[in-house]
Amino acid sequence: MTEKQTFRPADPLGIQRVLEPKGVLPQQAEKLDPALPIAEDELLIEVESLNIDSASFHQISKACDGDVAKMEAHILALVGRRGKHHNPVTGSGGMLLGRVTQIGPNFPVGTKPVQVGDRIATLVSLSLTPLHIRKIRSIHPKIDRVDIDGYAVLFASGIFARLPADMPETVALAVLDVAGAPAQTRKLVQPGNTVAVVGGGGKSGLLCLYEAKRKTGVKTVAIDYSQAALDRLSDLPFVDEIIQADARNGVEVMEKVWAATKGQMADVVINVANIPETEMSCILSCKQKGIVYFFSMATSFTRAALGAEGIGSDVDLRIGNGYTEGHADLALELLRESPELRRIFTEQYS
Ligand code: NAP
Repeated sequence: MTEKQTFRPADPLGIQRVLEPKGVLPQQAEKLDPALPIAEDELLIEVESLNIDSASFHQISKACDGDVAKMEAHILALVGRRGKHHNPVTGSGGMLLGRVTQIGPNFPVGTKPVQVGDRIATLVSLSLTPLHIRKIRSIHPKIDRVDIDGYAVLFASGIFARLPADMPETVALAVLDVAGAPAQTRKLVQPGNTVAVVGGGGKSGLLCLYEAKRKTGVKTVAIDYSQAALDRLSDLPFVDEIIQADARNGVEVMEKVWAATKGQMADVVINVANIPETEMSCILSCKQKGIVYFFSMATSFTRAALGAEGIGSDVDLRIGNGYTEGHADLALELLRESPELRRIFTEQYS
């Protein structure tokens, strides 16, 4: 006789998984319960890799002096304590790649088709995803990735993407991690705009620059700091101007954007730098009534709002929602369309 499986009751938002403080949503929670069994509307995923949010990975690396053994201990302690990979300093998480091992009988497979054995990347933040790590297998500091043995739980409300067959999974993971950025760029940029991307040589920066340039008459300006980032940006047909500047230095960035735009400044500024204190360089680079889009998780919204007010800057400050409808397909499509993006992402992430 086969043993009857038991499940927790259905709970689409995962509120029953919150241990502290009781009653809040999983993202706000200090601590989640990742224990099995799953609920009748949850998915169980055997996790292979965590793609840690760049701002979070950078913070952890700095706190551990770049020492991989210390980072491993830090991550194990963090997930052990919180039941999720939710960095308390940056507030951010990341996403994961794994294989579906169990589907609760009431998981909404009609709207979210999935089968046991599918390889998926979650598109909801690790900051709300119940996670148990049995072992860290390796840390890849250059690409913010942590390979683990462990499992995670996805709520019925969660979203995920099945991994495409036409590109390496780690490349797809890197693209899906920041899929919201190019999708929001598509909404924000108008034909003829000047678009400045702060942190333009990174994952989301390159995707945003490419997407912006698809609109007629757009001028793109990429701002980055390290030689490696500048090398990635050089000779790309969708980047019109490259500025080397430290995004923490608002005046330097403003002066260089002024020169690159002949004093016009940018209609849309996109912040995808992975470090704090870059708000003012974005605000100062934007023309009056323009839009500054903060995708970076290192953004302080207090600093941005008070900073803009303090210099009498009438710009529209937008929070970088990581999700917009169709964002995963759009981001993967850009990689299929652009040989340059595919080359850079493949070199960096496969
Ligand atoms: P990434 O690949 O690490 O890119 C960040 C870029 O910023 C890099 O090119 C980096 O250059 C550059 N940078 C660092 N310090 C700089 C400085 N002082 N001046 C100018 N540029 C500098 O990061 P990503 O994965 O694209 O993520 C970008 C941001 O988006 C992160 O803050 C991440 O947390 C956030 N994010 C948000 C969401 C969301 O839902 N809103 C989702 C995912 C990620 P180097 O190569 O020199 O370091």
